[in-house]
Order: sequence, then structure tokens, then C-alpha cells
Amino acid sequence: MKRIGVLTSGGDAPGMNAAIRAVVRKGNYHGVEVYGIYHGYEGFIQGKMKLLDLGSVGGIIQRGGTKLFSSRCPQFMEEAYRLQGIQKMREAGIEGLIVIGGDGSYRGAIELTKLGFHCIGVPATIDNDVPGTDFTIGFDTAINTVVNAIDNIRDTATSHENTFIIEVMGRNAGDIALWSGLAAGAETVIIPEEPYDLDEIVERLKRGESRKKKYSIIIVAEGAMPASKLAEMLKEKAGIETRITVLGHIQRGGSPTAFDRVLASRLGARAVELLLEGKTRRAVGIKNYQVYDYDLMDIMTTKHKADISLYTLSKELSI
Ligand code: ADP
Repeated sequence: MKRIGVLTSGGDAPGMNAAIRAVVRKGNYHGVEVYGIYHGYEGFIQGKMKLLDLGSVGGIIQRGGTKLFSSRCPQFMEEAYRLQGIQKMREAGIEGLIVIGGDGSYRGAIELTKLGFHCIGVPATIDNDVPGTDFTIGFDTAINTVVNAIDNIRDTATSHENTFIIEVMGRNAGDIALWSGLAAGAETVIIPEEPYDLDEIVERLKRGESRKKKYSIIIVAEGAMPASKLAEMLKEKAGIETRITVLGHIQRGGSPTAFDRVLASRLGARAVELLLEGKTRRAVGIKNYQVYDYDLMDIMTTKHKADISLYTLSKELSI
């Protein structure tokens, strides 16, 4: 393989740039030309690409977002458009593609491999919801952003003696809520994977009050319910007044943490090696801090599982 492509797709995540840099530098190290394909699968269909030389990825390892831009591309669901894209790639001499994105982007990559185009997936999303890897690129940065935000809110909560409900992202996964809740010492964490018990939450808040606790922090994952709904329920059930913060898109931005940069560098580099070994339809991931690879098709049959032991521990520590 003499020429490969790289794109970022779906929701952006901090560390995507570090992954692009790793792909370009590792490709060049092996004498392979790397083309950046712009705007995800949209650029793939339209052949929007540019040769990325060593210098073009200088000074981006610390930047959030993605230099190649990302998109959601409904057209890519249609085979005719995928074939058109493959044609554009072949005309440009591009023989394989590295897709940096979440499980939706992986599904797109699977479809390309069915049409004979070599693809390797690199997991990048703040939600940490890609099956087959312990961590996705961007998750660590997101939870650090959330923890900083909670620490700030805690200052206000302490001063005003309030109960705060903080809604965090994660789509259908509770990972962001679990990790940030534990790291920030939240009193209650609500995630989609576990049923919540309103009586227990009320009791916990009341218990805190009775031991002169001045404030409480409740983290609710967006996949469980909106913060506003919980606020209403607490008011209705027990007359408890709360303040709401929906953190929103600040969770997707920011300079990637060292962990995310290292993860992105390791996974991006391994993806290039796999393409050069002639492999296709593989995803790279990390298990017990070791880089490994698995069949992309596994994402169709395996579901991501949040680490529920963190949920239990969080409850035990906020007794
Ligand atoms: P993420 O990769 O972050 O999960 P999405 O779920 O939005 O993001 O998927 C990104 C893009 O991947 C979609 O806009 C679409 O172009 C492509 N894609 C997703 N699912 C499929 C599919 N089943 N077949 C073909 N392409 C898909």
C-alpha cells in the first residue's frame, strides 16, 4: 500500500487531532502517503482530500476538535454514494482508509469493507460507548472537563447551601456520569444502565441535611433523563428545591489530556500498521492498557457495558 486516507466522522472528540497526527507520521515513517479526507464521509463521497505531509500535522497534538472537520452524512447510508466515494478514492490511488469516530462511523466503515475497500476503525467519542475498547479517545478529556465544572459548581453550592443537579452527556451510556461523579464526589449519580429509586434519592438528601450537610451534587446522565425532569420529581415528591446545570457542548471541546493524546497516538499508529499488513475490517482498541485489534463486525453483536462497580462504589462512598 503506497497511499492511504484518513477521516474523522460523527461527533468530534478531543484527541482526534492527535490521532490524525499519529496516522500521518506513522504512514510517512513507513514511506506511505497519507491523504486527509475532509468532512467525514461527505468528503469521501465527493473526493474532498488533501495530501498531509509531516509539517501539516505539526502543532495540532494539543488542539481539540478535528483539523479534518467532521460531519454526519445521511447519503452515506446509500450504496450508490458509497460506490461513488470508492471510485473517487481509487482514482486518487488511495487503497485503504482509517476511520476515526464512534460506532456509527464504524457501521459506515463496515459497509465500505463489504464493497472491497480496506478500512480500519479508531474509536473516538467522548461517550466511551464503542464496544471492544476500555476507553475511547476523548473520554478522559471530557470527564476532566466535567470534574472541573462540578468543582466550580460545588464552590457556589457550598456558599448558597443548595442542591445542584448537573446533567452530563454520554448518549445512551452512563460512563461520563459514573467517572465524573466518582471523581468529583457527587452524592448521587443517575445513569441509564441502572434503575433509580426516587425515595432513596430523597432519603439520601435528607440524611445529608440531618448531618448538617450544606449542599448536595446530583449527576444525571442525559441518557437517563433530563435534569429538569428530576428537579420536578424532587419538588413534587418531597418539596426539595434544586438548581440545574446542563453542561452541554463544553464537554466536547478543550485541549486533550495527556492520556487522550497517548491513547490517540498509540491507536492511530497501530491502525496504520494494520492497513500496511494487508488487514481490513478491523478496529483498534485498548484492553488492560494494551493496544489490540478486533473484527469491526463485533460492534454489531456486542454492546458497550459501563463499569457498574463504579456505580456501587460511588454509592458506598457518598453514604
Ligand atoms: P458516531 O460515529 O459518532 O457514532 P454517527 O452515528 O452520527 O456518529 O455516524 C456517523 C456517520 O456514519 C453517519 O452520518 C453516516 O454517514 C455513517 N453511518 C452510520 N451508520 C451507518 C450505516 N449503517 N451504514 C452506512 N453509514 C453509516
